Amino acid sequence: MINGATKLLGIIGCPVAHSMSPVMQNAALEDANLNYVYVPLEVSRDSLKEAVTGLRAANFRGWNVTIPHKSAIMPLLDKISDDAKMLGAVNTVVNDNGKLFGYNTDVTGFLAGLQEANFNAAGKKVCVIGAGGAARAVLWGLLKEKAGNIVVAVRDKAKGLSFIGGFTAYKNLSVCDFSEDEYKNALKTADLIVNTTPLGMYPNVDEMPCVDFSLLRDDALVYDVIYTPAETKLLRTAKEHNLKTQNGETMLVMQGVAAFSLLTGSEPNEKLMKQVIKKYLEEKIK
Ligand code: NAP
Repeated sequence: MINGATKLLGIIGCPVAHSMSPVMQNAALEDANLNYVYVPLEVSRDSLKEAVTGLRAANFRGWNVTIPHKSAIMPLLDKISDDAKMLGAVNTVVNDNGKLFGYNTDVTGFLAGLQEANFNAAGKKVCVIGAGGAARAVLWGLLKEKAGNIVVAVRDKAKGLSFIGGFTAYKNLSVCDFSEDEYKNALKTADLIVNTTPLGMYPNVDEMPCVDFSLLRDDALVYDVIYTPAETKLLRTAKEHNLKTQNGETMLVMQGVAAFSLLTGSEPNEKLMKQVIKKYLEEKIK
């Protein structure tokens, strides 16, 4: 029950009504018997600065950050974690006695998915499809795990080159577009193929990125970061070719698990968070 000692958490974004975080985080808070409440906070692009001042003044313990504020919030914070700096995006803010610390838990989420698939990225050849926000977390996760050659395949090479421009210290990265032979070669040799585009995401479930499955190795893992539907056309096709697959649900839940730990200092019930998200997503696409 909310009382005078209840601590405040939330998520800021615009729009925010679609966010699954309030459902997932409140379920975990209740399960852990913690006296917190987690609320959705619609904050327009123009009101971000005022909102951050207000949240700090109202002594919010912390909050998650979603589109369009993930980068814009960075100059308003006192300290930024290394992951968030690399990604140029913050998705979790912790208010430590008025000092605001920014983190990004997407990398943790992505790597949890790899771990669930029993995939050790060290030295492995990877083809990452797409070069947007999710791809940054994927790429940084792979670099942290010391993956071998990483080819980023995109539809617009100039955008792809600018995307890897933020990782110039790493010489094992290259970019190609889908029409180039380098893409075919990347698919042929990859231990891991990661889709980071929205192709196949509900309601466009009949779409998928252009992957020629006849080229793939028999032991390749196909990881789609999409979580609605749980099985995208890409993953369904990969299964039909007897390939190993991983969807985006664990990435989604584990970024939330990591955020919960940062915000409360306690470990949540991961299994419960997974169940809550699964139920929520199933109802959403009914
Ligand atoms: P984003 O920043 O808009 O990036 C999308 C990327 O996909 C861009 O590189 C874009 O290329 C490319 N793309 C879009 N449509 C394409 C098409 N028709 N053909 C080829 N490439 C195309 O989006 P995002 O935030 O990274 O999200 C991407 C997906 O990841 C979404 O489905 C989202 O739900 C999912 N996601 C999952 C998690 C998780 O926790 N599991 C976390 C984040 C995101 P251009 O730059 O050329 O447009």
